Order: sequence, then C-alpha cells, then structure tokens
Amino acid sequence: MARIVMKFGGTSMAGTERIRNVAARVKREVDAGNEVAVVVSAMAGETDRLVGFCREASPLADPAEYDVVVAAGEQITAGLLAITLQSAGVPARSWLGWQLPVRTTAAHSAARIEEIGTEAILHSMAQGAVAVMPGFQGITDEDRVTTLGRGGSDTSAVALAAALKADRCDIYTDVDGVYTTDPRIVPRARKLHRITYEEMLELASVGAKVLQTRSVELAMKEKIVVQVLSSFSDAPGTLVVDEDEQMERMIVVGVVADRNEAKVTLVRVPDVPGVVAGIFGPLADANINVDMIVQNIAKGEGITDVTFTVPRAQLPASLDVLEKARDTIGFEALLSDDDVAKISVVGVGMKSHAGVAATMFRALASRGINIQAITTSEIKVSVLIPQDYVELAVRVLHTAYGLDGPAADDVTGAGADA
Ligand code: ADP
Ligand code: ASP
Ligand code: MG
Repeated sequence: MARIVMKFGGTSMAGTERIRNVAARVKREVDAGNEVAVVVSAMAGETDRLVGFCREASPLADPAEYDVVVAAGEQITAGLLAITLQSAGVPARSWLGWQLPVRTTAAHSAARIEEIGTEAILHSMAQGAVAVMPGFQGITDEDRVTTLGRGGSDTSAVALAAALKADRCDIYTDVDGVYTTDPRIVPRARKLHRITYEEMLELASVGAKVLQTRSVELAMKEKIVVQVLSSFSDAPGTLVVDEDEQMERMIVVGVVADRNEAKVTLVRVPDVPGVVAGIFGPLADANINVDMIVQNIAKGEGITDVTFTVPRAQLPASLDVLEKARDTIGFEALLSDDDVAKISVVGVGMKSHAGVAATMFRALASRGINIQAITTSEIKVSVLIPQDYVELAVRVLHTAYGLDGPAADDVTGAGADA
C-alpha cells in the first residue's frame, strides 16, 4: 500500500463528466489498496471569471477580499468531487483550506504555505475516506483567506504530499507529461520520460506553465517524487528526478516561450557611479521584478542607454515609478515595448558543454530574428525577441538542438480541449 496525493487541474475538473472521469481514476488507486488524498483546481476558466468580477468591482480591489473571491472556484470542485466519489461507492470528504488548516503567509494573491495541519485528515484517511482538498487556497494566522498565485494548486499538492509524507505526488493535467516544448505549439515536441528537478525548476521559472515554479522548488527541497500525467489517457507520464537518476543525457531538454514580459529603455542616462542603483532601487521598492538587463555605453560621451524587462502586468507601474524618479536618474527619454517575448533554452548538460548559446544565436540569425537582450544561468540561456517571431524561434531552436520527434496531433489521449 502506498500513500498518494493526486492533483487534477482545471481542464480535468471542467464539468460533471470530467469529474466522473477523475473519480474513476481516484477509485482505481483506492481499489489497488492505496491511501489517497486529492487536490483539485477550479474548473478551467473559472478563476479567470472570478478575477474578472474583482476587476469590474474595482480595479484596485482589496487583496484580502480578492482572495476570498478567487479561492471560491476550488471549493466548488472539491465538494463536487467528494459527492461524485461517494456516489461511486468511495467514502470521501472535502477539507477546505481553513479546516485543515493550510497556514500561509499574509501575502495575498501570492501567499506561501508555511504549514499544513494533518491530524484530522490522517485520521479520516486511516478510516478509509479519500480526502479532497481544494488547491490554491490557504489561511493566515489571522484567519483570513489567501491564495497562492496563479497555477498554485500544483504547490498545494506538493505541500500536502510533504505534510502527509506521501510516497508520490501525481499531477494529472491536460497533456500526458512534460515535453521538450509546449506540445500545443510545436507538434514535434517530444515527451521527456524523466527530467531533473533543477531543469524542471528552470523550465517553470522561464514560463513553461505545466508546473508552478514553487511546486518544483518545494518538491526538490522536500524530495517529493513528482509525476506529470494525463487525466485523459493512461500513457506513462514524466517523472521528476534527481540529477544522478537522469538517464537520457541531453544537453538541452526544453525550449520555452514567455510572452509575459515587457521591455523598458532609458535613453541617454549619465554614465556615472550609482546611476544603475538609481534606476533599479525605486523599482525594487515598488516590488517590481526586473529580469533581463542590457547597458549600451556610448563611447567617450559619458552617456549610456539602459534596457531591461519587467513583468508585462507591471509595465504601467514601472513607467510611473521611473517617471517619478526622472530628475534623480537624469534620463532623456523613457521608451517601452510590450511587443516582445522571451525565448529560453534549458538543460543541465550546459554545465559541461560549450557552444549552447552560440548555437542559439546562429539559429536565430539564420532566420533573421534580431536579439534585443540576453541573460544566462548555469543551465539556461534566454533571449528577448520581437513577439511576431515567437513560434518560428521556438521551432527553429527545437530543431537546432535535435529535439524534434515525430509529429503528434494529440498529446492528451482523448482530444481534450483546454
Ligand atoms: P492544469 O490546469 O492541469 O494545471 P496548466 O494549463 O496549468 O494545466 O498546464 C498544462 C499546460 O502547460 C499544457 O496544456 C501545455 O499547453 C502547457 N505547457 C507549456 N509548456 C509545456 C511543456 N514543456 N510540456 C508540457 N506542457 C506544457
Ligand atoms: N485555479 C487556479 C488558477 O487558475 C489555481 C490552479 O488551477 O492551479 O490559477
Ligand atoms: Mg496549472
């Protein structure tokens, strides 16, 4: 007997029929003699709908009340799954964030889980009941409802697996594993049977949304065995493993496109000590995360241009902060462009192989794609390009690193719509 946490995403929970399908999968694990806790997302599109209501009510909605609203989608699916399991003859009950409790920080809409109370849930599971927990939600020390940031149900599942000391955390979604790139964009994407925590973390953090970044961070820290699988097929999924268990030695395991950044350029800034601190200090104070940075020195003039990227949603706030600091920074003009995308290639093989970046630059140049900014880490190279070229760039790089597999047109096994 194993103790398993099964997590089902929004597409998997979208409607009565799909919830029945989820219940059948849960029942299969229970019938095999396993002890099961399930974490569910809201139905696909529901969280967006709830976010929309908050924006309509007020563009500057109180973050604590925003969380009360957007956490509601998961309460519905948790109850519905418990009902469906019961009607299939499987004892089950829901455990809401406040009931366990799932204690989090007070950072509304981006809270971190600090602790999960497991006494009651373990007692109930020991008596044979499946525990169904809504993902994405928690509660502060002051008993205010919180949410964990978009895609946060993955993190709820891994945190519950850690708290319950589960043998596995199975993440069921609408594709049948982690691919070399988004299989909905590149039909020749290949499924990875295994991927290291480190690679999965980097892929997630540069924008591959199949797992939320924090869930991977937590799985790595707590050594949770994570598997990504399809709710709609029985195909073997992707196992996230330690580096020494990785068998397919690939230099690059994935190509990721992220359209969620925007570019800002400060034109003709005095090239003197302290100027960069003058730019990025106020942005940091406003909680704006700067990602890529490029500085162009105009030789001999004592003047420089500084270009960087910020999250697209924070572009208006960034421009506002910089305009307010115009006199202290001393720039001539402030330009912005949200018609950009970040393309990243990731792989632990880069640690020991030279030339990965050169291959990327050559491949993009061969298609006339201009690079506007570059950043690297030990296992990643990212470039900023015009948004019109995203799909071409992803395909060209996927081919350049030898990742193309046979063209596939259904990665779910059941033609699920997302
Ligand atoms: P869920 O609702 O189940 O949490 P998400 O929509 O958050 O599902 O994540 C699954 C989606 O991630 C897939 O439908 C796919 O389009 C996208 N995706 C992006 N990059 C990858 C990748 N490298 N491998 C697999 N899926 C990816
Ligand atoms: N429902 C939340 C969202 O759409 C959490 C999740 O699905 O992981 O972001
Ligand atoms: Mg998700």
